[in-house]
Amino acid sequence: MSRLEILKAYWGATRRWRNLSGAALEEFQHQKALEMTRWVGEHSSFYRDLWAEHDLTDWRSLPTVDKRAMMDNFNAFNTAGISKDSALEIALKAERERDFAPQIGGLTVGLSSGTSGHRGAFLVSQLESTAWAGTILARALHRPLLESLLHGERIAFFLRANSNLYERIGNGRVRFSYFDLMTPPLEAVSRLETLQPTVLVAPPSLLLALLKSKPRIAPRQIIAVAETLEPQDKTRLEEGFGVIVAQIYQATEGLIAVSCRCGHLHLMEDIVAVQLEPLQLEPVPQASPLEQPRFTPIITDLWRRTQPIIRYRLNDTVQLLETGQLESTPCPCGNSWRRLAAIEGRMDDTLEFLDLTGAVRPVYPDTIRRAVLLASPSILEYAAQQLIPNELSVQLEVAPGVESAAIASVQQSLKNELGRYGIRAARLSVTIGIPVQMLNVKRRRVTRLIR
Ligand SMILES: [Zn+2]
Repeated sequence: MSRLEILKAYWGATRRWRNLSGAALEEFQHQKALEMTRWVGEHSSFYRDLWAEHDLTDWRSLPTVDKRAMMDNFNAFNTAGISKDSALEIALKAERERDFAPQIGGLTVGLSSGTSGHRGAFLVSQLESTAWAGTILARALHRPLLESLLHGERIAFFLRANSNLYERIGNGRVRFSYFDLMTPPLEAVSRLETLQPTVLVAPPSLLLALLKSKPRIAPRQIIAVAETLEPQDKTRLEEGFGVIVAQIYQATEGLIAVSCRCGHLHLMEDIVAVQLEPLQLEPVPQASPLEQPRFTPIITDLWRRTQPIIRYRLNDTVQLLETGQLESTPCPCGNSWRRLAAIEGRMDDTLEFLDLTGAVRPVYPDTIRRAVLLASPSILEYAAQQLIPNELSVQLEVAPGVESAAIASVQQSLKNELGRYGIRAARLSVTIGIPVQMLNVKRRRVTRLIR
């Protein structure tokens, strides 16, 4: 990978972050999207057929696609002529052998963790990886590159799978150290203490586990990735490590949002065009002012051509900090790109309950999270699963001695919260004892497991 190419991407990303806003940003997105749809229409037979009846200049209204459409039509979808079978075979073999640089025809193959067995495969070219590396350095380090080079930067990151990409982008002054998520905690702590990272990147569940062992490290920056960062965990981590916890919201489908130096999660408006589709819900009769509008992001990647992502509906729900206009009140950091208030995770984890009329009411994981955590300050950890509609099983870890009081207050709090949605006959079970979670599995505290 060429250092020069990374630097070019770095400068481009820095310049756009400083200079693009308002009408200029909208025009930038529009021109990039037009160029992309024109090219993709010529090179991907899947999109060509999909768009047969549509005006490509009106790209914002093109039909949407999703992971299923992409995987079902993999061969026609990508523009590199790679078949799904060969991509999956190489990626799975690499995962089994813990060789993290699977390549096919000069492209890197990645797997995305799937819902109920639906795995996604992704193809990324050399140039696309390089551009990603430069962009992420520009947006996530919150320090001029010159300063990083001068003082040295040691970046420790915990991921499910390594990609030799990270290790290749390092040089003497900016070093990346990869930790497998399966590294036993004691070993991880001792390696971290030797390394003394300046930046620590990991899923929130792992950061919390690390905090418990009180490692003697003082990173200047912590970045949460790969899992939903719940507000109570963010607070715990910030108090424990004494720094703001930033986030990178990235799917294999694209780089969607990165926290700025003020801790606000800005959409990467120059990398992907994000359209936010309001979730269609029946009005909640007694909604509290806490209830924020929720959206599903539909993303159009403005740069990547190997596996084009155009009007791709993600399986996430997010909340915005403001009204959703491209130009909003500027953040204290000086940038006016839209900011997310919360990433709530997967749409599939939206729970189903029945109201008094027998109609199905969707309830979001965040509603359950709030109801559980507000019930009692002695709750240390929780997990909630729905296996059957209208039922919910909640497991708690609480301070010793207050078990039955905590169970009763969680029961009551859930009843009250669901009652606001007109749900009065849900079957709730609250017990003590959290199932052990594998370290290499993405943590989701609220899960819907209905078949
Ligand atoms: Zn900001």
